[in-house]
Amino acid sequence: MIALDGFSPSRAAGLARLADFAPRAGRAYAEGRNSDAGPNAPGAVSRLSPYVRHRLITEREVAGAVLGAHSFATCEKFVAEVLWRTYWKGWLELRPGIWRRYCDERDAARERVKPGVLASAETGATGIEGFDHWARELVATGYLHNHARMWFASIWIFTLRLPWTLGADFFMRNLIDADAASNTLSWRWVAGLQTPGKTYLATADNIARYTDGRFSPRGLANTAIALTEDPVPSPRPLPDLVTADPALPTLLLVTPDDFHPESLFASTRGVAGAVVVGSGAGGPLSRAFVADAMADTAARVAAHFGCPTQRLAALDAEALIAAAANTGARQIVMPYASIGPDADALAALLPKLDAAGVRVVAVRRGWDSAFWPHATKGFFAFKTQIPRLLAAEGLG
Ligand SMILES: Cc1cc2nc3c(=O)[nH]c(=O)nc-3n(C[C@H](O)[C@H](O)[C@H](O)COP(=O)(O)OP(=O)(O)OC[C@H]3O[C@@H](n4cnc5c(N)ncnc54)[C@H](O)[C@@H]3O)c2cc1C
Repeated sequence: MIALDGFSPSRAAGLARLADFAPRAGRAYAEGRNSDAGPNAPGAVSRLSPYVRHRLITEREVAGAVLGAHSFATCEKFVAEVLWRTYWKGWLELRPGIWRRYCDERDAARERVKPGVLASAETGATGIEGFDHWARELVATGYLHNHARMWFASIWIFTLRLPWTLGADFFMRNLIDADAASNTLSWRWVAGLQTPGKTYLATADNIARYTDGRFSPRGLANTAIALTEDPVPSPRPLPDLVTADPALPTLLLVTPDDFHPESLFASTRGVAGAVVVGSGAGGPLSRAFVADAMADTAARVAAHFGCPTQRLAALDAEALIAAAANTGARQIVMPYASIGPDADALAALLPKLDAAGVRVVAVRRGWDSAFWPHATKGFFAFKTQIPRLLAAEGLG
């Protein structure tokens, strides 16, 4: 039995956590969010990320709940953190080549690095205080505090001098909130690639201060020289999506990118069946979280859309074609899968679905269509748009 350390994988659990946290999203969050008192100690952060990552609860719901409990000025810091996620998602959508670049460099680095060196970092056997603890905490719980993620990534890159892509891959395999955009771009930010030349250097003093003195590692790098790379491609416009034909019987496809289709599809008409798929990506804890979240989602989908609903462990063209045939569906409609492993898996099977005469229509949320196009520059340019865009969403 895999222990998910308090992260119960259901929408109800995400909503309960949000309701519990919302009163603390103001000053208590802004003042306490940098401290990581350890895995079993209460902290100031929300620990909502696995729910938000899979959209068991949406960014809009999270922002709405905290803005219902505080003025914008009081909870601005928390709302900005939620919008960091939206910004990273938009940034990568506008530059899909950066995800491909990461995958290629990761695969090349795997060939290059000695397995023993990598294993010592991943199992927490380097002898570096704090770092070894976080490696084990990540594998055991599927979660790390944001500051621990920053320290860990910095030590990985600048003290251990390991390829950043392999550290990002270690996180992708073990975080239950593992997200292609937030993870890849945060690692790039620490490495000095995302904001060219600007790195994040972990220091023993900062670690001791924000871990309540639990760790004060010796021997950390005292400089962090930014990594370099080929120029980042210019942002593309957000692609237009084809629209669903309301006259055609529909098979609803739900992936781990968005486990709340009830709030995306206003009408339940024409939905002849539904398939909730898991992810082939990730390690034991993230797969366990997704498997339980799938069961929760399938039950909600069946009740809401009133249609037969099946679960599939991973995307599979033949199984989808069979599900469409069994329900008489002529099109598959799904919440848009953002850039990352699931979108890659989907892209690989589109030709087979097309050949079988099953068209796939992806629907993007209004939140994403509103915010993502503004991720053309840095976060601070994006941030100036937040109050206006929240107001347009009816929030703030
Ligand atoms: C190297 C590195 C890798 C990371 N990888 C991931 C990842 O794979 N998936 C992921 O969701 N986050 C990632 N983050 C961002 C951040 O660490 C987590 O979102 C946060 O720690 C989750 O804990 P929380 O829910 O208590 O956050 P809170 O502080 O309570 O924030 C509320 C929500 O805002 C969002 N958020 C907060 N901080 C950030 C941030 N810096 N970037 C993006 N979104 C943020 C999350 O959805 C989070 O649930 C990474 C950060 C670093 C430095």
